[in-house]
Amino acid sequence: MTTPIGIDLGTTFSVVASVTDDGSLRIIDNAEGSALTPSVVHFESAGSVVVGAEAKRTAPVDPDRVVAGIKRQMGTDFALEFDGESYRPEAISAIVLRALAEGAARALGCPPGDLAAVVTVPAYFGTAEREATAAAARIAGLETLDLVAEPVAAALSYGVTSEDRGSVLVYDLGGGTFDATVIRLTDQGPRVVAVDGASRLGGLDFDERLGALLLERYASMTDDEAALDDEEFALRVYADAEELKKKLSRAESAALPISRGGKSARIAVTRAEFEAATASLVHETLRVVDRVISAATALGAPAPSQVLLTGGSTRMPAITLALQDYLRVPVRLSDPDTAVAKGAAIHARALSGTGAEPAAARLLSSPAAARLLASRPVRSVVPRAIGVKIHDSHDPSGKGIIVEHIIPANAPLPVREVTTTFATVVDGQNRIRIELMEQAGSVAGSDLAFNRRILDGELTGLPADLPSGSPIDVSVSIGTDGRIECVARERGSGRELVLESYMEGVADAHEAAELRRVVSGLLVKG
Ligand code: AMP
Repeated sequence: MTTPIGIDLGTTFSVVASVTDDGSLRIIDNAEGSALTPSVVHFESAGSVVVGAEAKRTAPVDPDRVVAGIKRQMGTDFALEFDGESYRPEAISAIVLRALAEGAARALGCPPGDLAAVVTVPAYFGTAEREATAAAARIAGLETLDLVAEPVAAALSYGVTSEDRGSVLVYDLGGGTFDATVIRLTDQGPRVVAVDGASRLGGLDFDERLGALLLERYASMTDDEAALDDEEFALRVYADAEELKKKLSRAESAALPISRGGKSARIAVTRAEFEAATASLVHETLRVVDRVISAATALGAPAPSQVLLTGGSTRMPAITLALQDYLRVPVRLSDPDTAVAKGAAIHARALSGTGAEPAAARLLSSPAAARLLASRPVRSVVPRAIGVKIHDSHDPSGKGIIVEHIIPANAPLPVREVTTTFATVVDGQNRIRIELMEQAGSVAGSDLAFNRRILDGELTGLPADLPSGSPIDVSVSIGTDGRIECVARERGSGRELVLESYMEGVADAHEAAELRRVVSGLLVKG
């Protein structure tokens, strides 16, 4: 029997959740008793790795053998070497997933092989990053039911179902990044309409502003001007500032004792002072919110009727107040650290079928639990537009190259054989390069700069007498797992090129098998 779980595979922290048989959501604590497991791996020695808080604590002592933030490298050719083995981002993420899955299996009392997971990915992840995440799960030996966008999972955890209509804004302010997503509620479940964000804006920036305030106050209270130039001291104050910031989310004022070289002072800060020092950061997020809502409405989505908050930094009361004031709609905050994992668990449960029996749902006393167990799976969509690189027929010089998108972003998966016809450009052309491109930014534009290559290859051996303008059919299919297949075919001769396994920045089948051997041979402690 498979046991469905949801995994929020985060940049800084990961969280695992499940839906129990009585329809309640359970966050699965790690061996240290915490819901949040740092996504950090310590390559302790050949054949042995440590994942989580212990690995994070080791970072200052053994920095060259500790890897954090690997999610930022997913879908790239980045690789690290430890003890003679090369680890791509998929392999390092696979180690994190193995630790999470083994911990979950222990907590749920089942073998890890019985688990089937929904893993979340950022809504802006393109095909390569998604494919790399799916590869990480395969390397970890973890069955994946689906990859789902983090804001969609967040919406599910807030109780959005396929009966709801309209649209919602998911505002996700984490430790280092900010993402804003407009989600449209359709009878197929929640769908991402527009995504925007700032990749370097998060809780850390609030810590820095508060840290700077503390340093200044300390220096003037103790007459210790040299403190302002002491980098090590500053780092310590910034770390303490994070704790003080969290206190200010609960209390109107808080204080911190600070000492340096025999001098010390107790620095008190009020919430109002902290909010004044960080107002421009909040304002920056509102600018992004404005942009994403404009993009969504331009695509025909109704204005969001509510805001759902995720990410630890949304605990700062200023966030809710600023959004309420700006958008004048209800803003909901509920377990922002674990909302994404819970939504993934709800989706996993719906997909694995164990929650779909209406009779079981009717027996439940709580309507919320019944609704949860009866929820239908969300359909996954193509995250970004897919196209082919072609010569621009409107360019008089004939040299302009553009991308013609043939599958729009958010097309429901699977996509079956979308065929477009292109043409050879010169007489006797005996080969044609096929480059499959994916929208790189948040909007789909035909300019090359707005796209990046995901698959490429050459259709060769075309007949020698082929006139220019001969049709080449290019058909693209995308499976429910996001795997892309592209077939280019010259009609007259029937010559074909099949592209499927050359996804840039993702391990191919051979490399993945090798990584699986390496990762499965490791002793993973977490
Ligand atoms: P995440 O990346 O979603 O885990 O968010 C982590 C960020 O949330 C860190 O910057 C934390 O300092 C911040 N955070 C966690 N709890 C609170 C709180 N109570 N008040 C303000 N920020 C918080």
